[in-house]
Amino acid sequence: MKNNIVQLSLGYYDFLALKWQTFALTKTYPFLKVYTIGRSVNGVPLYLLRLGCGPRKIHINGSHHGNEWITTFILMCTIEILCKAFKNGESLYGMAAKTLLQKVTYDFVPMVNPDGVSLAIEGSKNEHFTDKHLSWNEGSIDFTRWKANVRGVDLNRNYDAGFKTYQKITEVHGPSYAGYEGPYPESEPESKALADLVRTRVYDIVLAYHTQGKEIYWTYDNQYVATAQEYAKIFEEVSGYVLGEPDPLAAVGGFKDWFIKAFQKPGFTIECGKGENPIATSQSEEIIRATLPIVFAAAKDIKKRGH
Ligand SMILES: [Zn+2]
Repeated sequence: MKNNIVQLSLGYYDFLALKWQTFALTKTYPFLKVYTIGRSVNGVPLYLLRLGCGPRKIHINGSHHGNEWITTFILMCTIEILCKAFKNGESLYGMAAKTLLQKVTYDFVPMVNPDGVSLAIEGSKNEHFTDKHLSWNEGSIDFTRWKANVRGVDLNRNYDAGFKTYQKITEVHGPSYAGYEGPYPESEPESKALADLVRTRVYDIVLAYHTQGKEIYWTYDNQYVATAQEYAKIFEEVSGYVLGEPDPLAAVGGFKDWFIKAFQKPGFTIECGKGENPIATSQSEEIIRATLPIVFAAAKDIKKRGH
């Protein structure tokens, strides 16, 4: 990884690292396209990195949760690996990168919550830090547990899937470092921008990277999605992660929940690595080894039975 463009910055991966390394990647790999799909509460651009030109559309995102910024680094490493293999005419997992990128288009949004990432990394040194954040963090100056955006909304509870159910069961009733669903679905510019992108592009499959647990979540509220189980089993096999069975009442309001509900297509949460968040960056190579095969396996077009 020493000669790679994508590197941790002082042991972290914040928006500036994402910005400069995205720029550097597009210089070396001009076929990698970059778009801005919206802006965070603080006005930070939400980048979309597009790779490939195939008809099958795959969306992958990271860092819905501030203290899970390692997922942005993992996705940027993944993008660099794919770019390098394409440029050098190499194969990965038995498939030429060129063939893969003619078959699929990957839309990566590596950092959904840049403001939350900054707070989780910088804490009280963050330029947008106020006394409100201190109280939303229960008075603690340790911001390593910060998951929410800068308004104290948990973006992965802010989607329109079981929103009212969550309001009934949650013990969090206002802005917080984690767990507050917001005043209404897509109330936050970050979740709204991502949902708008998904509604426009109508992806065949989506993957949302989180930490931690080495688990894959693939269901929502007993909704049946054709092919979802087949993908889940393949992902389990290629990654070594296990399929999780979330508490059906607790697993609401998330990005993949909303995608499954809104489109009846396969959507997954990939819980990368193991340990307490933010998990150690020393796990990065192991996480890439587990998740890169999932990115490839998602390219497989499993047909619905009877078609
Ligand atoms: Zn998360």
